[in-house]
Amino acid sequence: MGAELGRRKLVGVAFRGMGELEVSDSEGHMTASLALRADHASRLGPSAGLASYWDKARDSGFSSLLHRVVACFGCPHPCRSFLKINEDPKQMALSAKEPGYLHFDIPSLDAAASAGMGSGAVTTAFMECAKAGADPSSVIGAGVTDIAGVRTMLATGDAPAKARASAKGSFRSYSTFDDCIALGLCPRYWAKVGLDLDAVSECIEPALGRGLR
Ligand code: SF4
Repeated sequence: MGAELGRRKLVGVAFRGMGELEVSDSEGHMTASLALRADHASRLGPSAGLASYWDKARDSGFSSLLHRVVACFGCPHPCRSFLKINEDPKQMALSAKEPGYLHFDIPSLDAAASAGMGSGAVTTAFMECAKAGADPSSVIGAGVTDIAGVRTMLATGDAPAKARASAKGSFRSYSTFDDCIALGLCPRYWAKVGLDLDAVSECIEPALGRGLR
């Protein structure tokens, strides 16, 4: 895709949705969606950002740096955690230019935890990787165990690109990953709540006016 964008001299494509969606059976779609939402509310449990998905985010080292949890638009279960390391995590004020990092990458966090890095060090490391455009998994996986090693690796460009099993490593259940991607559903959310294709179809079918199956 990158090569094709380059061939067309495009640096990016932006979309702005200005049209209205035509829903075949708006009442039926709304009723099914509200029923699904109510069911999910009882199954999701409390929203705790990354701690809802990754047990190590419950550690005191991680939670003491937690500033807020963040969700995608409209998602009732925020799955990411913003840690502040360069200003008081409890303060809303923005005084530091780069106050912290929005953690979402569970495989890289696991690699860093296995290497013995604490939450503050790993947040600094991921910030520096993000600025360098480097995959934290590859950098940590190259054998570094502290922030000095990360900086050396980034400065020398010696981190070998490590093969990841696509984005699947960020999700608790791989079994439903492909179904979710095909239907445009968030795999992380549905792995948490339990993918139920019948329930999904009950919502989508009235919207489209035809059966999915
Ligand atoms: S669970 Fe999915 S939709 Fe919800 S905040 Fe996380 S990534 Fe976004």
